[in-house]
Amino acid sequence: KSIVAIVGRPNVGKSTIFNRLVGERISIVEDIPGVTRDRIYAEAEWLNTPFNIIDTGGIELGDEPLLVQMREQAEVAIHESDVIIFMVNGREGITAADEEVAKLLYKSNKPIVLAVNKIDNPNMKEQIYEFYSLGFGEPFPISGTHSLGLGDLLDDVVKHFPNREQEDKDEDTIYFSLIGRPNVGKSSLVNALLNEERVIVSNIAGTTRDAIDTPFKSGDQDFVIIDTAGMRKRGKIYEKTEKYSILRALKAIERSDVVLTLIDAEEGIIEQDKKIAGYAHEAGKAVIIVVNKWDTINQHDKAIKEFEEQIRAHFLFLDYAPIVFLSAQTRKRIHTLIPQVITASENHVKRIETNILNDVIMDALAVNPAPSKHGKKLKVLYATQVSVKPPTFVVFVNDPELMHFSYVRFLENKIREAFGFEGTPIKIFPRKR
Ligand code: GDP
Repeated sequence: KSIVAIVGRPNVGKSTIFNRLVGERISIVEDIPGVTRDRIYAEAEWLNTPFNIIDTGGIELGDEPLLVQMREQAEVAIHESDVIIFMVNGREGITAADEEVAKLLYKSNKPIVLAVNKIDNPNMKEQIYEFYSLGFGEPFPISGTHSLGLGDLLDDVVKHFPNREQEDKDEDTIYFSLIGRPNVGKSSLVNALLNEERVIVSNIAGTTRDAIDTPFKSGDQDFVIIDTAGMRKRGKIYEKTEKYSILRALKAIERSDVVLTLIDAEEGIIEQDKKIAGYAHEAGKAVIIVVNKWDTINQHDKAIKEFEEQIRAHFLFLDYAPIVFLSAQTRKRIHTLIPQVITASENHVKRIETNILNDVIMDALAVNPAPSKHGKKLKVLYATQVSVKPPTFVVFVNDPELMHFSYVRFLENKIREAFGFEGTPIKIFPRKR
């Protein structure tokens, strides 16, 4: 998928536009406490073309001076994206900071689309002309708060997408990646895993600039492990790009079927862990929570149970993810991981026949009748599975407005009770019939 980055000095409205472009896709099933809202990377779609979008303004760079931050954000955009939306503020005209950003963008070979934001009504359109002088061609007037001009802008953005050949992935191969904050043990676990398995050395070819792909076999099953951590350890070039590691992780997630999200047993759960895990969940991937460095924990009877309770409390949105406690260093319980990856992957592509699904739904309705709102009663007619990766169900109802998300959760629980689906998110959308 092509990647679009939004660049511009602070307060021109990058995040508003970002949210406009991706906002409608956030479904009611995601409306669960604990799912991260401050995203910088998300999927959007225009004219049936899905793409990924990065809000470079959301990339955290600590307390560095503004100019440094802008430069680094522009660098990320130039490095990571296929098309750049350069955003300026139509109410303030060209500022010195805009010119700074422009200078950086001149040096890139990427297509750049100039968007002039805060043009809230047609009378203001004259204000876009001065921006021609930035040298990026025709400026597109838009309004983030009023959702104006976005269609024309996106028409132009999409025109610049490169013709990308589909990555030829073997359908029977399970792709998985490891994510987690620095030093959680990703590299150690990749090495430990690959030491146990039959690595197909001659095939190490799928190495991109973002990750190292290593194919291996376990039993009869083919796998590819997508390793983003090993990259940075390889040498100087990537040290500089450490701050891109989130983006690299996100790209690895996108190519994965199953994502192992690592937690450091020694350090405990931190906010960043949730954010990182949230990306795997939102991407609809199968997820396994791996607690690494379990060797450092005093192994009393209740240690696992206590840690598990903490995880469940912090990762409400990952209630379907199995938890594996292991040590990359001592290799304890490493061998339990691959079977879990296989199960999660199978569930991620599992299809339920419509008639069997509807038996379960009808039983659920009998237990907990559909709720009413303002005297109007929800009628659930039938359900059908429309896709896999992750399993996605459409429930036909008289009025989708009446389907509260707690009722969606109830149906999800019933579907899970009946069919398992451990390790994979499932999506349920109400539709009017
Ligand atoms: P990454 O940044 O996530 O790739 O983490 P590394 O694999 O580089 O590991 C960071 C540090 O944690 C290294 O010093 C490892 O030796 C150590 N480490 C990794 N796994 C374990 C483990 O299971 N137990 C212990 N005690 N240390 C570990």
